[in-house]
Amino acid sequence: MSFVSEFNSLPAASLAQRSLATGAAAVRESLAKAKLSLPDFANLISPAAAEFLEHVGRRSHSMTQQRFGKVIRLFAPLYLSNECINNCQYCGFSRDNPILRVTLSLDEVKREAAALREQGFRNILLVAGEHPKFVSVNYLRECIAALHSEWPGISIEVAPMETADYAPLVAAGADGLVVYQETYDRKVYAEMHTAGPKRNFDWRLETPERAYAAGFRRLGISPLYGLADWRYEAICAAAHADYLLRNCWKAALTISTVRIRPCAGEFQPLTHISDRELAQLVCALRIMFPDVGLVLSTRESPRLRDGLLPLGITLMSAGSHTEPGGYTGAGREKLHQTVRGRIVELASGASEWAPQPNRATNATGQFEIADERSSREVADLIRRLGYEPVWKDWDAALTA
Ligand code: SF4
Repeated sequence: MSFVSEFNSLPAASLAQRSLATGAAAVRESLAKAKLSLPDFANLISPAAAEFLEHVGRRSHSMTQQRFGKVIRLFAPLYLSNECINNCQYCGFSRDNPILRVTLSLDEVKREAAALREQGFRNILLVAGEHPKFVSVNYLRECIAALHSEWPGISIEVAPMETADYAPLVAAGADGLVVYQETYDRKVYAEMHTAGPKRNFDWRLETPERAYAAGFRRLGISPLYGLADWRYEAICAAAHADYLLRNCWKAALTISTVRIRPCAGEFQPLTHISDRELAQLVCALRIMFPDVGLVLSTRESPRLRDGLLPLGITLMSAGSHTEPGGYTGAGREKLHQTVRGRIVELASGASEWAPQPNRATNATGQFEIADERSSREVADLIRRLGYEPVWKDWDAALTA
């Protein structure tokens, strides 16, 4: 028994459809409940509920402060590799994209991590494309073990694995796992993932459960908004979160609200969710799941991040780079270009090697970030908004 069987009988499409016709009375009724059901959640993300955004925002804000205090936890992604054997149409690292790639050595990973530690971070997310040759279980284990003594919070966002392969990563010191389903729409999922092991929808959907069985105690999920209807995706993500809260109850759960950003391959979003709808979604998630962490990444603009922060966000990335070596230039001398998965020689004067302003390396990033403020600037902003930026993972800080 896994979430897949619940998911297969989930009336998500009809709930999304019904939410379009929801009236103000139904929204009020859902808001009056102490514990919300999935149909209530669908009501809170309905067009009718948009009229209640101010009221819902105040409630979401005060619920978040009651449960989490006036703190925002900060984390940074550290990209280990942009090699990938999958073709995901919306991702710059897609196998067929002719981009500059590299996998950082252990020393280079330590260099990047030291730069982030210097900024104040103690909570790190190790990210890598899916390539078993370059990003093996053993490589990941060595990276985690090398960072463990100095990093109280280590999460990974890498290729989904078997439970037995996750276990050594937990033993080495990783405690968090992030896996985005990308889209909960099976048809769109098949269209977006045209090559590689990621084509297996169910295997990906069960990943948080396998990670939990291996001992991960922080789990992060999200769709990638911009692929299928956003209300459908949000309802599925809420059902997924509800399942994980019931079945993986020893783990702290986080939900992100990530939207597609420009990247190599120039994929254009297939669907749209407006800034206001994103705010509505954040509030609905908070009211539905009072104890779940809500994550906001640098995919969003400074203005929107500043506005969303008090609505229910508990965890933010800051000063992020999505290219391996992005913080120090580590690995830049061994960059290579791949075309359809094969390494090709680039002339030394090729435009790909030209130095790029404000970039430490020419390695290609996964996507363009929208909030380019430094981690210090974001921390200052958090303080100005009346919150305390926390650089260390909350749970680890309590038990350290
Ligand atoms: S989304 Fe992940 S698996 Fe897909 S191309 Fe990008 S890095 Fe590879």
